[in-house]
Amino acid sequence: MNHDVIVLGAGLAGLTAARDLAAGGADVLVLEARDRVGGRVEQTELADGRLVQLGGEVVGRGHTAYTALTAELGLTLVPSYVAEPGALTRDTPEGTSAGDPPHWFGPGDGACHQKVTAAFTELARTVDPADPWSHPDATALDRLSVGDWLRSQGAGPAVVRLWEIGQLALADGSYERTSLLAALRKHAAVPGPGHYDYEAWEGLRVAEGSATVALRMAEDLGARIRTGVPVEAIAVRQPRGCAVRIAGGETLTAAAVVSALPAGPFRSVAVTGVSEARLASLHRQRHALAAKFVAAYDTPFWRARGRSGLSECEGVLGSTWPQSDGILSALVPPERYGVLLGTPGPLRTPELLAAIARLYGEEAHRPLATHLRLWGTDPWTQGYVTQWTPGDVTAVGPLHGTHEPPFYVCGSDQWVAGYMEGAVRTGRAAAEEALRRG
Ligand SMILES: Cc1cc2nc3c(=O)[nH]c(=O)nc-3n(C[C@H](O)[C@H](O)[C@H](O)COP(=O)(O)OP(=O)(O)OC[C@H]3O[C@@H](n4cnc5c(N)ncnc54)[C@H](O)[C@@H]3O)c2cc1C
Repeated sequence: MNHDVIVLGAGLAGLTAARDLAAGGADVLVLEARDRVGGRVEQTELADGRLVQLGGEVVGRGHTAYTALTAELGLTLVPSYVAEPGALTRDTPEGTSAGDPPHWFGPGDGACHQKVTAAFTELARTVDPADPWSHPDATALDRLSVGDWLRSQGAGPAVVRLWEIGQLALADGSYERTSLLAALRKHAAVPGPGHYDYEAWEGLRVAEGSATVALRMAEDLGARIRTGVPVEAIAVRQPRGCAVRIAGGETLTAAAVVSALPAGPFRSVAVTGVSEARLASLHRQRHALAAKFVAAYDTPFWRARGRSGLSECEGVLGSTWPQSDGILSALVPPERYGVLLGTPGPLRTPELLAAIARLYGEEAHRPLATHLRLWGTDPWTQGYVTQWTPGDVTAVGPLHGTHEPPFYVCGSDQWVAGYMEGAVRTGRAAAEEALRRG
């Protein structure tokens, strides 16, 4: 059967694109490798009815495409953990502290941190997030790591360590291996007072559950989605449009194809009829590998200790935060993902709970349920959010996020820094462009 458009991948990006295409009158088919929709948003339900988010969870007020979509779907945005009372916890091998300053700061470090933060936000104002390549110093800024830039601004080890613990708390790659231009671009996309503003990026969550956003769209798309069908090959610009081959050999055809696949799985798909330059740019993208751990408790016991549940840590866990009442989320950042994989299966959960106990007390050892999701080694994700090592912004180049009709791309990788906002924003943009070209 010949469709107008075949969308590859039923994550937030693919579903958003398909929803808009269908609303625009296109005959659309979505092909999804897994037996479920949602991709990097996924949820499960506890025996007591509370939902547990295993993937993407929070957004910020600056995430306008996502917030507009949730309104259209009739979903409710409520304040996230950022509004929780209590202090942030920082945990390093030599100690644990609550609130600011961190326990390793000495005289002058606070002032230095403020100075470099101001310099960073000032410099970010000179970067256009939609076109960072037009910056007069783009190549030099891209070649420099954030760590090297901080030292060039006079930041000592204590200040660099504060930036690094924050970056690994987000489970992004180390600032020693992150392009300054990419970091500035991310800040320019959703500015805030700090170098990463929790409120601007993470201040909201969907009350009905983050993965409900994907499920609602899938419900509306109904039989237009086929699950359990991994795409193996795409041939663009055949005499009769595009051909998509799925595992098992079946071939489907359409006038256009929208790829909403993450960078890793996309590399395994054979693509013909798309320019070398377009493919090289897509193949050059990379991900930070992360795991998510969730421990569900009766009550948010950390509150009794005056803690918000938000932490930044130097153990195998990079961070914790409360995703909803009594449910604690945690991330294992790329730098420590190998340590987690090297831990024998039965020891992983007890060791991660011990890390939480170090932060908030012995109650941590008695969860009602736990979930460990190894996204970094999941074959259909192979990552978490985008990672930009020095030189990557230049190497991916201005083709980032662009289309080569009838081949369109979307997905969080096609935005500045991944995230659900990137998925929705690029999904909508791809659908709009495909509809515009008929
Ligand atoms: C643990 C974790 C926590 C996160 N936390 C947040 C957060 O709090 N806030 C935030 O904004 N973002 C967060 N993110 C990022 C966010 O979830 C993602 O950026 C976003 O959901 C990606 O959507 P997408 O549609 O671009 O890609 P995906 O969701 O990865 O969807 C791609 C789809 O393509 C499918 N697929 C792959 N290969 C094939 C193939 N060959 N054939 C067919 N289908 C294929 C996949 O199965 C998947 O369904 C988090 C991500 C993770 C993993």
